[in-house]
Amino acid sequence: MMNDVKVECIDKDHLGLFTVKSSDGKREYCVDIDLDDMTVYCDCPDFKYRRQTERWGGALLNDGSHHCKHIKSVLRLHWRDIKSR
Ligand SMILES: [Zn+2]
Repeated sequence: MMNDVKVECIDKDHLGLFTVKSSDGKREYCVDIDLDDMTVYCDCPDFKYRRQTERWGGALLNDGSHHCKHIKSVLRLHWRDIKSR
């Protein structure tokens, strides 16, 4: 479910780097958004092994079918701020 994670921005100057924590605090993943390349990356196993599409590792920002739940949470909560930074 979407509400079992906690999203924190750890790079407030650039709004590109976020951590996403499970509600029990046991797992934490890092979501990295690159607006210059319009790509996004997450270091969770789901994304690394199943969803990446780009050669360097990552997926396109507008390719929602390749976003893991952490990326979806970040974009859902922060996309407006990221876009207007
Ligand atoms: Zn992820």
